[in-house]
Amino acid sequence: MSINFKKQIKCPSCANFAEMTLWQSITVSDSQDLKDDLLKGKVNIFRCASCGATALVPVPLLYHDEEKHLMISFSPCEEADKIRLFNQVKETSRQSGELSELSDYNLRFVCSYNEFLEKILIFDNGLSDKTIEVLKLLVLMQDSEKMEDRVCMFGKLDADQIEFMVQDKKEGQIYTSRVPMETYNTVSKSLRDSGVKDRSFDWEIVDADYAASLLRGSNNNL
Ligand SMILES: [Zn+2]
Repeated sequence: MSINFKKQIKCPSCANFAEMTLWQSITVSDSQDLKDDLLKGKVNIFRCASCGATALVPVPLLYHDEEKHLMISFSPCEEADKIRLFNQVKETSRQSGELSELSDYNLRFVCSYNEFLEKILIFDNGLSDKTIEVLKLLVLMQDSEKMEDRVCMFGKLDADQIEFMVQDKKEGQIYTSRVPMETYNTVSKSLRDSGVKDRSFDWEIVDADYAASLLRGSNNNL
């Protein structure tokens, strides 16, 4: 069920007040328009009519795609609060008894808006975010001395290639990097062979750290 509430928001730039609809829960089957707005970065993003400033309003949002058996818990927070909030989501989910009904779901926890939208795109393209995170790391490792300054994000899936966007914060540049689907399939199989499940049995954080631990664990298999 999609749930929202209205709130007066103060512009962080000019202090102008405006009423805004904030979403706490989005179920895709309720409204395709709402999902489109989300993908355009319009949901829970304040846009000041007076000065044009934009800002994310930090409201936790649960995204539910019943068809894809996907649930994403977006909890806007700083890195330092991530694990605490993640444990809270897991505990609440366990206590409510919903976990048993979501056994064949992918349950993801994210704390940045970009990461949140990226997850939706990955699953919409029928891809596994676990494989994609490993590929993102492999893309960054091609230029290992610049890794610290770079962020890699899923861009799009073409016929037989996956396009990644590599942002270099030091150079202020964005590069694209393409990986053949063949490589995706090889990495996917390798992860499955090493025991990585397609579906999760609990909430998971699937990010660069997750991919790094997979790579460490699988030694030279990939
Ligand atoms: Zn303003």
